[in-house]
Amino acid sequence: MGPDPQTGAPPLPVLIVGGGPVGLTLGALLARHGIASHIIEADEAYCQGSRAICISRRSQEVLAWVGADRPLNAKGLPWTGGRSYFRNQEVLHFRMPTEPTERFAPMVNIQQYFVEEYAHQAQDRFPGKCSVSWSTRAVATRPTADGVEVDVEAAGGHRETLRAQWVVACDGARSAVRDHLGLSLEGTQYEGRYVIVDIEQESSRAVERLAWFDPPSNPGSTVLMHRQPDNVWRVDYQIRDGEDPAEAVRPELVLPRVQSHLDMIGETAPWKPLWISAYGAKCLSLRSYRHGRVLFAGDAAHLVPIFGVRGLNSGLDDVGNLAWKLALVIGAASGDDLLDTYSTERLYATEENIAYAAKSTEFMAPPNFAFELMRQATLRLASIDPHVRSLINPRQSSQCSYPAATLGVGLPGGDRNASLRPGDPAPEARVQTADERTHLTQHFGGGFTALYFSDNGPVSESIALPASPAAQDVSTLITVRIARTGRADATTVVDVMGEAWQRYGADEGALFLIRPDGYVLACWDQPDWQALSSVLRRILTGQGLPHLRLPAGGDS
Ligand SMILES: Cc1cc2nc3c(=O)[nH]c(=O)nc-3n(C[C@H](O)[C@H](O)[C@H](O)COP(=O)(O)OP(=O)(O)OC[C@H]3O[C@@H](n4cnc5c(N)ncnc54)[C@H](O)[C@@H]3O)c2cc1C
Repeated sequence: MGPDPQTGAPPLPVLIVGGGPVGLTLGALLARHGIASHIIEADEAYCQGSRAICISRRSQEVLAWVGADRPLNAKGLPWTGGRSYFRNQEVLHFRMPTEPTERFAPMVNIQQYFVEEYAHQAQDRFPGKCSVSWSTRAVATRPTADGVEVDVEAAGGHRETLRAQWVVACDGARSAVRDHLGLSLEGTQYEGRYVIVDIEQESSRAVERLAWFDPPSNPGSTVLMHRQPDNVWRVDYQIRDGEDPAEAVRPELVLPRVQSHLDMIGETAPWKPLWISAYGAKCLSLRSYRHGRVLFAGDAAHLVPIFGVRGLNSGLDDVGNLAWKLALVIGAASGDDLLDTYSTERLYATEENIAYAAKSTEFMAPPNFAFELMRQATLRLASIDPHVRSLINPRQSSQCSYPAATLGVGLPGGDRNASLRPGDPAPEARVQTADERTHLTQHFGGGFTALYFSDNGPVSESIALPASPAAQDVSTLITVRIARTGRADATTVVDVMGEAWQRYGADEGALFLIRPDGYVLACWDQPDWQALSSVLRRILTGQGLPHLRLPAGGDS
């Protein structure tokens, strides 16, 4: 797309529509990669009210790529497990996999507006690369032959047309861009509805996920509780069958139900309600997240039920996947079919998210009598049979592996007879560098990383990569030798706990190529630096990218 014929202004490299958590994080990630973007946000400030509170370990990793993990973890409340009760008997006490020295807790509770604030502030670390226009909404989107035009309307009615090489629609569940392109979400909408109440009350209770099924405080209902910073509690409860959702949020109905529950669990401090809203679970997605030069991320692309906390968390995973690919394409280091892999991979993740979230939803709010009976039986049996307990616990959001039909297809290591293959998330491990005890994942988030498992092998000759001045940080390769013993230095870290070799299933000489978003791209049992270089060149020049199979109906 050339300069504007009237003003002579060049098009924006990226226009992000929607400055929620996903859009603001994408702006920061692109800025880190040296790519300029502009965000338009319909509201005048960060979101208000009851939205996401549980931020996964993977989301903390993505936010860490731009330094937003520090304020998040300073403010947020980490947790590792939870309890479920049937009536007033505890039937499950679960813990998510974690270790005391892990870089991030499996989950942190924090109000969504703080996530937005920290992602926005992270943009300041890359001056001149990202700007936000608040109170500005997209009113029309027109793809052109080589770019996209978006008509925007600011507060006061001022209208203008923005021109961009790429548009990323992060404009949420009711995405206007989706409508402008005539697209719609497809899937399932559940009947059961929940009232979501945030209250302020001091408490010394541990931070964990608490669920009650058919509690004496609210017979027949399901009640969930989560602590948040600043003495805020999230209380969710299921509306009874036949109850009108519009009526159910009236304070005179809500407050006694909350009071009854607080009485039941012995929380006696004074409290006040902050927000009350109603929520209905949906499992919906677009068929493709790429439509020419318009890409979709977060709630604009897919909606999953809140049970298992996959909404915001999967949105951050979307932009973690998209940012480096878009940076390479804009930096002209890659062909734009790299962006098709964004859609394919994240559609796969949505399918998995929907499968888990649907299971959780059906347990939390049984859609029919058969599910209700199954739930009753599970809850009754859980107190006596530990094998049944896992059925009660909704699997929380976790990073998925990408299957063969993605960027890793045909790349070395796909036939590897080991647990770790191309398309899998690169495992975490604690390692010793020359200066500090740190985590392997701290190397990810910028360019590509070669992990070379060897006690004494020479670290590679330098690998010449195609230069991409516009996206320098993504088109680089850093090489880290991981030794079992010996001294760490500038290129060697020591696997002090033995975790890295074990988790990567590595023998002497194994070589792993890790993508900027922390996924395994290719692996070799022996250090074939030539092959590694040619795989990278293939990605960075867009040559020979494996044929991508898009789901039926995808029209990218
Ligand atoms: C009660 C509740 C609890 C939840 N709990 C969790 C949880 O614990 N963990 C989790 O992962 N997820 C949770 N979610 C889901 C999470 O809130 C969403 O997935 C998340 O907000 C999606 O972020 P987003 O940036 O894609 O969209 P949004 O947050 O909706 O942001 C979209 C932005 O686009 C703006 N916009 C809309 N139209 C336009 C336009 N035409 N032009 C410009 N801007 C526009 C909007 O003003 C908005 O700021 C919860 C949701 C609810 C309702």
